[in-house]
Amino acid sequence: MLIVSDDRAVVEADLAAGRLVCPRCRAGVLGGWGCSRLRAVRTSLGVRRLRPRRGRCRERSCRATHVLLPDVCLARRRYVAEVIGAALLSAGLEGYRRAGERLGVPGETVRDWRQRFRARAELIASHFLRWARALDAMFDPPVGQGSAAVDAMEAIGRCTRVASLRLGRHSPWSWASALTAGGLLEINTSPPWPVPE
Ligand SMILES: [Zn+2]
Repeated sequence: MLIVSDDRAVVEADLAAGRLVCPRCRAGVLGGWGCSRLRAVRTSLGVRRLRPRRGRCRERSCRATHVLLPDVCLARRRYVAEVIGAALLSAGLEGYRRAGERLGVPGETVRDWRQRFRARAELIASHFLRWARALDAMFDPPVGQGSAAVDAMEAIGRCTRVASLRLGRHSPWSWASALTAGGLLEINTSPPWPVPE
């Protein structure tokens, strides 16, 4: 799976120009390879149906196919990253049941997202700070607040601002998805997060 733009025209142009590098072999580029299955994701406005494009590695020895998931999504989550992000951001301000009611998400789901985020908060913080430094050599890292989850949120906020300035404007949670290969909340099941080169 590869996180790509939510704009299908951009994805088609990237495929045509060979700008999408295969996440498996990291040598070949992807060409278009039909579409993946239809899926429904929940947004703050209701249900959105999308059928992600699929790409296939042009490298003869690889030929892996990948789902090209729009950056509004996280892998294996039925809610868009924006909704999940809102639930994470309000941790400490409102309980999971209340946040769930406000966002139209079962409370237990909000609790699960928050637990996953807390469980890997230090990893998340260092990952995003690493990206921020790679994107901006003058990046001034934030001072720790004494809470790993708060620090992780701050790191995401700072890093995604830098990414928007340097690489083009996207919503913070779209950047958070792109910079973790959709695996912001995954701990064991996702391939390694992309690292800056
Ligand atoms: Zn490949």
